[in-house]
Amino acid sequence: MKKYKIAVLKGDGIGPEIVNEAVKVLDKTAEKFGFEVEYDEALLGGCAIDATGVPLPEETIAKCKAADSVLLGAVGGPKWDNQPGNNRPEAGLLGIRGALGLFANLRPAVIFEPLKSASPLKPEIIGDAMDIMVVRELTGGIYFGERGRLEENGIPAAYDTEKYSVPEIERIGRVAFDMAMKRNKKLTSVDKANVLESSRLWRETMIRLSKEYPEVELSHLYVDNCAMQLVRNPKQFDVIVTSNIFGDILSDEASMISGSIGMLSSASLSGEKSGLYEPIHGSAPDIAGQGIANPLATILSVAMMLRYSLDEPQAAQAIENAVAEALKTVRTPDIYTDGTRKVSTSEMGDTVASLI
Ligand code: NAD
Repeated sequence: MKKYKIAVLKGDGIGPEIVNEAVKVLDKTAEKFGFEVEYDEALLGGCAIDATGVPLPEETIAKCKAADSVLLGAVGGPKWDNQPGNNRPEAGLLGIRGALGLFANLRPAVIFEPLKSASPLKPEIIGDAMDIMVVRELTGGIYFGERGRLEENGIPAAYDTEKYSVPEIERIGRVAFDMAMKRNKKLTSVDKANVLESSRLWRETMIRLSKEYPEVELSHLYVDNCAMQLVRNPKQFDVIVTSNIFGDILSDEASMISGSIGMLSSASLSGEKSGLYEPIHGSAPDIAGQGIANPLATILSVAMMLRYSLDEPQAAQAIENAVAEALKTVRTPDIYTDGTRKVSTSEMGDTVASLI
C-alpha cells in the first residue's frame, strides 16, 4: 500500500481546529482510495516562539524536508504582536517558504454553486461557475530586488528594483504551462510589457516556452487590463501566470470574487514533488477556540496536495465533490444562509468526511 508522510504545522489561533478537520477528511479519503498517511507534527509561528523562542525551529525545517508534503494551518495573533519583526510568527512563514525553495504560489479562485450569492459580482457575470488558477512567482522580482534610500539634491528618495532572469521566468512558466495542460489548456500571462523592460523579457520568455507546449493556448494581458477583466468577465480565464508583485495583487482580487475567505486554499511549490498547502486566510484570533471556524479552505488545501504533490487526482476530486455536496445542506456561521443548517467546525469536517 502506498504511504505518504505529511508534516503538519497547525500553527496558532484557529490553526489547530481547522487542521484537525482536514486530517479527519484526509484519513477518510486514504481509507477509501487505498493509501496510508503518516503525520509528523511540528511547531511554526507563535506556538513555536512560546516553546522554543523562535518562530521557525530547525527541527521544523528538517521535518518538512523529510516529508512528502506539508500541511499548514495559520500563524500569528495579538499575543506575539510585540515581538521584533524578525522574530514574529509571520517571519516563520517566510522562513519556511525560503527553506523549502518554494518559488511558485498557486491560488485557485473558485465559486461553488451554492455560494454564488456570496460573490460581490452579479450572477450573470459569474455564470454557471468560476474556476481560475493564479500562478504567482514567489521568490523574485521587486520584493527581493535591490532597494535603498538616497538623497537627490537634498531631497530624500527611495527605490526598489524589479529584476527577473530567464531561468526564473522559465521555471514559473513551466509550472503554469503544466497546470494549463492539466486543466483547460488556456494560459494568460500577465505583465506590463508596454512600460517595463523586465516585463518584455517575461513576455519573450513565455512565448519561447510556449513552443514546448503546442496544445496550450497562450495569451498576454497588461496587468491593469487584467485587473479590469477579472471583474468584467472572469469566465474568460483559466490559468493566469504572473510576477510576484502583480500576482500578490491579482490573486487577492480574484479570491474576493469568490466572496468567502474561509473557502480558499493555496499551494506553494518548489518544482519538486513536495509542496506546502495552506488556507489563504490567517489565524482568525477573534474566533479562535469557539469551534465556529470554517475548515473548508484547509480541507480544500488537502485536495490540492493530493492533486499536485501526491498524484492522487481521484482522491482530490472526491474531496472537492464532498465539499460541494456538504455546502448544499450545512454551513459554518461565516457562510450561513437561510435554508441551510448552521454547524460547528467539527460538524462540517464530519459531514465532508461522511460524503467521501
Ligand atoms: P484573518 O484571515 O485571520 O481574519 C480576517 C477575518 O476573517 C476575521 O474576521 C476572521 O474571523 C475571518 N476568518 C478568517 N478565516 C476564517 C475561517 N476559516 N472561518 C471563519 N472566519 C474566518 O486575517 P487578520 O485578522 O488580518 O489576521 C489575523 C492574524 O493572522 C494576524 O496575526 C496575521 O498576521 C495572521 N495571518 C496569517 C496568515 C498565514 O498564516 N498564512 C495569513 C494572513 C494573516
